[in-house]
Amino acid sequence: MPEPHIHRRARLAALVADHAADAALVTRLVNVRYLTGLDSSNAALLVPADGPAVLCTDARYAGMVRDICPELECVVERATAIALAERAAHDGVRRLAFESHDVTVEAHDRLAEAAPALVPFGHVVEELRRVKDEEEIALLRTACAITDRAFDAALPLLRPGVTEREIATALERVMVDLGADKPAFDSIVASGPNGAVPHHHPGDRALAPGDLVTMDFGARYGGYHADMTRTVAVGRIADWQRDLYDLVWRAQRAGVDALWPEAETKVVDAAARDVIADAGHGDDFPHGLGHGVGLEIHEAPLMGYDKTGKLEGRVPVTVEPGVYLDGRGGVRIEDTLVVRRDGPELLTQTSKELLVV
Ligand code: ZN
Ligand code: ZN
Repeated sequence: MPEPHIHRRARLAALVADHAADAALVTRLVNVRYLTGLDSSNAALLVPADGPAVLCTDARYAGMVRDICPELECVVERATAIALAERAAHDGVRRLAFESHDVTVEAHDRLAEAAPALVPFGHVVEELRRVKDEEEIALLRTACAITDRAFDAALPLLRPGVTEREIATALERVMVDLGADKPAFDSIVASGPNGAVPHHHPGDRALAPGDLVTMDFGARYGGYHADMTRTVAVGRIADWQRDLYDLVWRAQRAGVDALWPEAETKVVDAAARDVIADAGHGDDFPHGLGHGVGLEIHEAPLMGYDKTGKLEGRVPVTVEPGVYLDGRGGVRIEDTLVVRRDGPELLTQTSKELLVV
């Protein structure tokens, strides 16, 4: 499927000259993957403003390159960035843009010896990655469908006496069984008072009647990361728990309803945050409303009260308000959606009605 990658490289090439450079050296592996399709632990890509791109990877991946991006010239070397910097110098590049957020000081010194003048390139590839093409959204849709099915499959396990770890490992095993590359991140299962910790590590606590249980997990498929959170009730829960659930659900709906192209990310955050603050729980919602997802689990745009920027069509984001009450428990509800001109497309479709198990 090389066409989208050819198109992505062309878009990047058009931006190289804007940075007063003759070529860009892409070293962040996730960005190399975005531009070539190659998933490798050692690769770099040289993208000239004019002319074909050159990939460099080591011998372990040479066969994969022939299958995945046969249209690309591939240099086989271990020191990928240095090899491409030397290649750039040889090809007459005078100013080489590089990903300064990825290159260590030590690697920079070595690059500077090999390369012509180095120019910081900023997060240009990450910015390109923000708006997805439909090929990417299709992969994300599958990742989210696997996530939904894993939730359904794990439901019979949710009963008093089962531990957080057992639930987390069951979710992760089912996702892989259903075709996921792997879990998109370390799954969170937080029961009872542990629900007050937004990123609780699942432990040996067993579910007990009266618990709210927050499960935050997702599948990675074709490199794309799904992210979903559901909070369920074990047996009879108290009124304050039900009220908390309804509050977070209302906030989540308000956030989803604010997802439009051109919407400012901090306005979307405020739409949900105001609902929680109006109920007197502003201080109990200590994180941003959501984040972009794609080849990374957290990527641009970040949505928080202190974030700038606007949404656009075809940008996948999460909407995940939560309220956390120290020592008592918490509720978080999260979906992955795609911003669209005719309203957001919901990718994680598991019901948000309070489920009592
Ligand atoms: Zn999550
Ligand atoms: Zn998330």
